[in-house]
Amino acid sequence: MKLLVSSGTVVTEQGPVEADVLCSDGRIRALLAPGERVAADERVDAAGQLVFPGFIDPHVHSRDPGATHKETFAHSTLGALCGGTTTLLEMPNAVPAVTDVATFERRREEHAAKAWTDFGLWGMALGPANLHEIAPLHRAGAVAVKFFWGYALDRRTKGLVYDFAAAPPDSLLLPPENGEVVEMFREVASCGGVLAAHCEDRHILARSAERLGHPIETYDDLLRARPALAEATSIAVGAQFARATGCRFHVVHMGSAAGAQVVREARAAGAPVTAETCPQYLTLTERDAERLGPALKVYPPVRSQADQDALWAAVADGTVMSVGSDHAPHLVEEKMRGFGSAPAGGLGVETLAPLMVDAMVRGRISPARLAGVLSTETARLYGLWPRKGTVRPGADADLTLVDPEGSWHVSNDRMHALNPVTTWDGWDLRGRVTASVLGGHPAMKDGEPVGERRGRFVAGDHTAGRAAVRT
Ligand SMILES: [Zn+2]
Repeated sequence: MKLLVSSGTVVTEQGPVEADVLCSDGRIRALLAPGERVAADERVDAAGQLVFPGFIDPHVHSRDPGATHKETFAHSTLGALCGGTTTLLEMPNAVPAVTDVATFERRREEHAAKAWTDFGLWGMALGPANLHEIAPLHRAGAVAVKFFWGYALDRRTKGLVYDFAAAPPDSLLLPPENGEVVEMFREVASCGGVLAAHCEDRHILARSAERLGHPIETYDDLLRARPALAEATSIAVGAQFARATGCRFHVVHMGSAAGAQVVREARAAGAPVTAETCPQYLTLTERDAERLGPALKVYPPVRSQADQDALWAAVADGTVMSVGSDHAPHLVEEKMRGFGSAPAGGLGVETLAPLMVDAMVRGRISPARLAGVLSTETARLYGLWPRKGTVRPGADADLTLVDPEGSWHVSNDRMHALNPVTTWDGWDLRGRVTASVLGGHPAMKDGEPVGERRGRFVAGDHTAGRAAVRT
């Protein structure tokens, strides 16, 4: 099938260009002069719209399998599609976690049957416990491996354990110490892969919680128990390991000015360090705690306006390379348990692009930079470029169309998640993600799916990724 996306403004990292995009057999075939006559089976009129390379959400926890009362892969990929994302990268900490190739292959098969968007899979790095699986996971096409720094793993269920102090120690795989962490960096480096980490130093967290002197009751307590120092320290340690081993080190969900400054300095010194932030850190602050209650709770926590401003500066200057949602749903009743006991995380996959488009229309980020952090640089980082992340002949025909003059009302009623309660309920956003094309077929229009479910697995290719990535 030949599809022509006509009369739009194609936006790449290099900037905007007026062009018609001809797609066939799932690929982009040509960029044509606007109005050039060409035969096509189907046309999408993009007049007045920006045509981006399909957006990629690199940070999604679909809870599937293991906690499918919270969310499922079918729901998260449908939400992603309706929000303007065409590829998502699934985090490895469902239950069982993706710590070996057998689990990776099973997850790939299960998810392929449910996917509304294309998807890649993360692997999980545990330290010595699965060091021998790191190379096989890369060969199987893992986009990166994630290290949940400071978290334990339940030996029986292979699920992550966040607060493991109270659990019987022999039921757990305890987090590796730094010497073992360096070995893990070395192993990932030899695969040319990316080691991403949740960065909050667990010893600083433990001592900070003790210093508080009482259980966490308010949002201010939560911030004092999880200071930015914990994030900045883990990043600094990881940056040293990255420099020493040559391993690409990626900081996920960076939420503090202090963290961003460490990344900026490490990059300036030549360390292969990159960072991701998320819309929650770019649009919310501690002042939203009163309004939202524990719905605001994420790890690391959302902090001050100064932190938010610093993160926008980091997005603009390249310190932040990629923006992902950290979609991590829970039941509403779980989120209402209070700032201390409520689990961290919330919906994000469907609002990622709309919130970033709103920021673009308000002038906080240029269209070219938006193409970078939501598509091109993300694709490069995870070994998906140039198949994904670009609008040029040969690339997958994945496109996200945006009307900068439009608007979007965020509402729980319209969310496609299993538990459709979003932090941004009631927000009026500027700009509108109007449509998407996935694999050369119209896939979404006005926030609803079009046609059949056609998501496919995409493998990370780390030889190309490594050469292409700008660190
Ligand atoms: Zn996450």
